[in-house]
Amino acid sequence: MMRLKLARHLASGPWLSALGAVHRRVTWPILTSLTYHRVIDSPGGCLETDDVVDATVGQFAAQMAFLSEHFSFVTAADVVRWRAGGALPKNPVMVSFDDGYLECFTRVLPILEAHHARATFFVSPRYLDERRLFWWERIERILNRSTRPVVTLRHPRPIELRVEGSPTRAIGDALALVKQTPGLDLSRFLGELEEAAGAPYSEAEEVAEVERTLMTWDHVEALERAGMDIESHTQWHRVLHTLSPSELKFELLGSRRELEERLGRPVRAVAYPVGYPVAHLDHVRASLHASGYEVGFTNHSGTSFLRRSTDPYALCRIAMTPTYDASLFPSLMLAPILAPRRSVPRLPSV
Ligand SMILES: [Zn+2]
Repeated sequence: MMRLKLARHLASGPWLSALGAVHRRVTWPILTSLTYHRVIDSPGGCLETDDVVDATVGQFAAQMAFLSEHFSFVTAADVVRWRAGGALPKNPVMVSFDDGYLECFTRVLPILEAHHARATFFVSPRYLDERRLFWWERIERILNRSTRPVVTLRHPRPIELRVEGSPTRAIGDALALVKQTPGLDLSRFLGELEEAAGAPYSEAEEVAEVERTLMTWDHVEALERAGMDIESHTQWHRVLHTLSPSELKFELLGSRRELEERLGRPVRAVAYPVGYPVAHLDHVRASLHASGYEVGFTNHSGTSFLRRSTDPYALCRIAMTPTYDASLFPSLMLAPILAPRRSVPRLPSV
């Protein structure tokens, strides 16, 4: 990957310290935002197989130390205030965590506090309330324990998922169906999948796993009390471009209202589940506006210009990965143009 090669090259030469010195002196009119999901203790190194693990605890601590030297931490609420005419500090960086995994409270918060850093946590209220596994986790668990070599589905269309040997491809195909099928009935899909795989997942089993991995409202409220920002990640983490107008309203307005009730303050920012850019879709845009959101974040890699003309519903974030090691992370932060672009599938325009 050309961009990463360049970033690696930058890290190995004298350019990085020169760039760091310039960065500290100059005020760049850009907002750098980072997306994390999980950080884990991993003495043996990184777990690259798990898509939602974005750093080890050690990596994350080193990354926050670097950012605290070169950037000013801001939150999504600060960006909302900036949109309304407020000022942002020099070289702002928004560290954000999506989904609300338990380490946000147990591992991330102490590191943030040690660096006087503030971060934004995008959470999905229905999962916090109902203690269910996220849909991608259920798909993975069901197909991993399938008792049938081929899982045959009728919804959203007749399809055969071959799990014999390795379920990896079938998991990818099933995830793609949820991410890209307009009009998908998610609970019907998951129910059929479970039945067709002959792999029931008991409620008790699910609740026990959720307790090990997901924050509770108490944790979320403790983050807020510690000065962190809590914002919306929709109700059920549904992929926005696949939803009908009434589903969009439920996901967007519903989550904002529930968070506001819980937190007792305005919630005006949303991170789009899965992170596809949606600002070009008129019906999604209209729903974001009608639901009271002032800013929306994608996972489309890159930074956003701090200009009044910047589309507030298309703010970019850089998706973190454990491969951004101690040499690569600083060069990507100082030269974010080198962060790899995330491939975004073609989305329907209606
Ligand atoms: Zn998410």
